[in-house]
Amino acid sequence: MTSSILITNARVLDVHAGEYLEGVSILTDGDTIAEVGSRIAPIASSTVIDAEGRAVLPGFTDAHVHVTAGTADIAAQAEWAPSYAAARSGHILRGMLERGFTTVRDMGGADYGLADALDEGYLTGPRLLFGGKALSQTGGHADMRHRGRTVTDNHPCCPTVGVVCDGVDQVRKAARDQLRTGAHHIKLMLSGGVASPTDRIDSTQLSVDEIRAAVEEAEAANRYVAGHAYTARAVNRALQAGVRSIEHGNLLDGTSVELFKKHEAFYVPTLVTYQALAKEGLRYGLPETSHRKVSDVLDHGLRALELAHRGGVDIVFGTDLLGGMHPHQSREFTIRGQVQPAIDVIRSATTVAARLVGMAGRIGEVTPGAFADLVVVDGDPLSDLSVLTRPKMVVKAGQPVSWA
Ligand code: ZN
Ligand code: ZN
Repeated sequence: MTSSILITNARVLDVHAGEYLEGVSILTDGDTIAEVGSRIAPIASSTVIDAEGRAVLPGFTDAHVHVTAGTADIAAQAEWAPSYAAARSGHILRGMLERGFTTVRDMGGADYGLADALDEGYLTGPRLLFGGKALSQTGGHADMRHRGRTVTDNHPCCPTVGVVCDGVDQVRKAARDQLRTGAHHIKLMLSGGVASPTDRIDSTQLSVDEIRAAVEEAEAANRYVAGHAYTARAVNRALQAGVRSIEHGNLLDGTSVELFKKHEAFYVPTLVTYQALAKEGLRYGLPETSHRKVSDVLDHGLRALELAHRGGVDIVFGTDLLGGMHPHQSREFTIRGQVQPAIDVIRSATTVAARLVGMAGRIGEVTPGAFADLVVVDGDPLSDLSVLTRPKMVVKAGQPVSWA
């Protein structure tokens, strides 16, 4: 049985144009938007909802999440029972959907099992675009061993964010292994990071040949590569090797901006996580050694966003929160609002994100033929992004999720 909702008296945000369609109705049919307009009759079975003049936006996409990150102590999490990690993921996914994120792109950890469980209705959460395990070199950002430990456990069932691989052949095989399970993208660790115990933020990781091998495998499967990178040096070599989305990039510079444009790549900053890690990281399991690295990137994030925005780079919404810090997800909107106009911040979580993940026209807009993913809010997000942190109602694929 297909269901239908008719939302009347809505103020629909046309994200492309940056203006509202006043007093319109939205009719859904099953998981899809059937009609948007001023005179729409319900189909016999429609549930009618009066939006009372509220703003209705397309469901949001968060393009950098770790839905399996139940704690900020990623190394400790590797020892969790997979069943326990999956249960914790279910809780994290539900929270994301209630905050209005109807699609999320996982950047390391989520697999086909979670995606299937969501599709089949065993879990409640956003549409999950997973990449499987992130690929990391020995001593890289997803190598969670402390210095004295020599053994790496690459078993696919361990709830780790990544897999360790070295050399072109191993990287190629690891990429093929993720693609074999239906991965939407391949994630590479291309510089040091905060949560890893033995690397430096300013390192580069994986050789150019290894990066190119992963890009070649992804492109062969009509997929793409996303790369974790902080410094201009790490960002630029990734862009030159064909990486399509750069994650974090806090220390990029003007030369990076030019390369983004030249290669038509996307930039996915994740600003909220550094604020959250600085304040609450230790409480939620971030080791002391990692906490000390947060300040290396925290202050540079807004400047990188401003450089990219002024340079006209395609910027996408991401958060990268871990453990108990997930509830801060929507604060990313207001943090970015400090340097970008509100409409551009909203586009980063809707139309631009849709282009990055290859779903333009299907997500990120309230138009006929798109998935019926909707967020209803009080107030005017174009003048105050903080209204997005308190959705009144969320609809995913035609199903109402929650009334706040
Ligand atoms: Zn990262
Ligand atoms: Zn991440």
